[in-house]
Amino acid sequence: MQIKIPELSLVLLVGVSSSGKSTFARKHFQETEILSSDYCRAMIIDDEADQSVTKEAFEILHFIAAKRLAVGKLTVIDATNIQAKARSSLLYLARKYHIATVAIVFNLPKDLCKIRSQQRVNRDLDSAIVHQQYDNLQRSLRNLKHEGLKQIIVLNTVTEVNDSEIKLIPLSCNMRHEAGPFDIIGDIHGCFDELIILLEQLGYQIQFSNSKYTISHPQGRRVIFLGDLVDRGPKIPQVLQLVIDMVVAGNAFCIKGNHDVKLVRKLMGHNVKLVHGLEESINQLQKTSIDFHNKIIEFINNLPEHYLFDAGKLVVAHAGLPEELQGRDAGKVYEFALYGKVIGREKSGFPIRYNWANDYNGSAMVVYGHTPIIDSKWVNNTICIDTGCVFGGKLTALRYPEKDLVSITAKDTYYDSVKSFIKHDS
Ligand code: GDP
Ligand code: MG
Repeated sequence: MQIKIPELSLVLLVGVSSSGKSTFARKHFQETEILSSDYCRAMIIDDEADQSVTKEAFEILHFIAAKRLAVGKLTVIDATNIQAKARSSLLYLARKYHIATVAIVFNLPKDLCKIRSQQRVNRDLDSAIVHQQYDNLQRSLRNLKHEGLKQIIVLNTVTEVNDSEIKLIPLSCNMRHEAGPFDIIGDIHGCFDELIILLEQLGYQIQFSNSKYTISHPQGRRVIFLGDLVDRGPKIPQVLQLVIDMVVAGNAFCIKGNHDVKLVRKLMGHNVKLVHGLEESINQLQKTSIDFHNKIIEFINNLPEHYLFDAGKLVVAHAGLPEELQGRDAGKVYEFALYGKVIGREKSGFPIRYNWANDYNGSAMVVYGHTPIIDSKWVNNTICIDTGCVFGGKLTALRYPEKDLVSITAKDTYYDSVKSFIKHDS
């Protein structure tokens, strides 16, 4: 059986003593990925079976687990984990560092574990303890699904254990192996004409035939679109078509923007108010086919909310992303990457946002959009390149790794911002 788990996760091995957890861990994971309570005991008192230092052993185990999760490393907990209390402190750590949790449960026959235990030097457990461990395991099997784990795998036989194979699934944000060079383009909002001029200025060759865009760069450069392709602007279907064609051809990457997600909700029949420029998208898309709508839904739904490129040196997210959320896969990452963090409201109802860039001291460069500004400027290795084209500003690209900015002035003011667009709620 192939067990698929996220490449970054906290894996709890759950099973009574001698059910084969340590053997399994050694077979499937790297030595440094495994945190064993027995080994922590041995580090303290030279005897891995000495229960008198259990509390101290788990202090060490939790300490190292926290360090590993903080830097985003797969971590396997080799301990019985058969008590809810033991699991909850580990699950708390995983939540704190926005890391998925997986339980692999060794639900093997009691007698088998007893025999194995008796055969082990220094491990012949009192049968009362084995019974108690079994009761706890059965309770765990009932309760695990309510503990917020992402995945629970139960192995019921020795054959199932021995035939298992672990496959690590890369996180959707993981593009570390793609080093560029890239041209990162901010919020387009249907400003198709400016997009074409910008792509040409960046050296892309553009062809349109059989209702399809073929766009590539002679030097193999690729585009990263920062989301908010739609709403407000004059040529929304054309922008969608171009971006989808480029991404499908492998000449561009794209991440979700809040407007894109809202449009898809509307197209899927949800009750969404036609405000903040959504009406323009719907009006323009009415003239296109249902097939095209379905293509848009599938495309946007499958986009990640952020990407890490170039060995993690470049991070892109529509509304930016603080270091602790980069390369993680959790609801909080999605919320921040799409909407930023709203910390209050002005009297007029405009959101007051947490200025995460001012506090940023991560090593990755973060390129984002979402909040229109007049001119892009670097703040602590982060840069916002939404220069409000749809409000009559500019469409901006950042060349990576060169760090050059290239901008095209909007041909028109396509949408009036309620305020100066600098502060407009995008
Ligand atoms: P843990 O206490 O759950 O970590 O169990 P271990 O992995 O240390 O295994 C307990 C004992 O059972 C050890 O002596 C292992 O060598 C043995 N054992 C583990 N898995 C298997 C297996 O698949 N077959 C056999 N025959 N012995 C196993
Ligand atoms: Mg063990």
